Amino acid sequence: MKDTFKHKGLRNKLVATLASKGITNSAVLKAIGSIPRHLFMDSSFLDHAYQDKAFPIAASQTISQPYTVAFQSELLEVNPGNKVLEIGTGSGYQAAVLCLLGAHVYSIERQLELFKKTSKFLPKIGYVCKRLIFGDGYKGLPDEAPFDRIIVTAGAPFVPKPLMSQLKIGGRLVIPVGDEDQIMTLYVRKGAKEFEKHELGNFKFVPLLENKS
Ligand code: SAH
Repeated sequence: MKDTFKHKGLRNKLVATLASKGITNSAVLKAIGSIPRHLFMDSSFLDHAYQDKAFPIAASQTISQPYTVAFQSELLEVNPGNKVLEIGTGSGYQAAVLCLLGAHVYSIERQLELFKKTSKFLPKIGYVCKRLIFGDGYKGLPDEAPFDRIIVTAGAPFVPKPLMSQLKIGGRLVIPVGDEDQIMTLYVRKGAKEFEKHELGNFKFVPLLENKS
């Protein structure tokens, strides 16, 4: 599968759509303009890769809508060199965006099939994360904590305590909170026990599942 001029043209249109919907961070727009999203999707959806929509990937999961990826990435305010933890690797698309923003990416996925597929695929197309982990994101990644930024890409019924405690002071946690629908929520850690909370609109994600194994 190749990246062609046609794909590049479609990506430029997608970037224009995201800008018209209010995304302003130029590094985020540039990342979305350069990542071949069609390569992250099953062949039956290739024609739709550059529409601003979520699509099914393996294991009944979804690759998030580009607007959602852009919105979360913008809220995260990644600086180059930041240590970033992602919960819900999925297709690896959001992780690729984080890589292009200069983050050192640690990403956790609980579906073995997706973990295996994405662990092979991402480096193959040039996106190298610090670590991809097969495990339960509710626990975070204590052996690598603290993190400058944490992003959750599945709908969390509540905010897992370990994610709060694994955030650096001054760090940002972006997490969609809720059962059916979620409210995009940003926590900024101001001190050991002090968090500033911002709620930023409604979204719909696949659920953050508790580990049943
Ligand atoms: N960031 C992904 C979005 C994938 S959808 C992308 O860009 O494609 C959310 C992902 O979260 C799914 O792959 C799902 O399997 C995963 N997930 C759900 N519960 C989880 C948990 N407790 N720990 C880690 N990953 C989880």
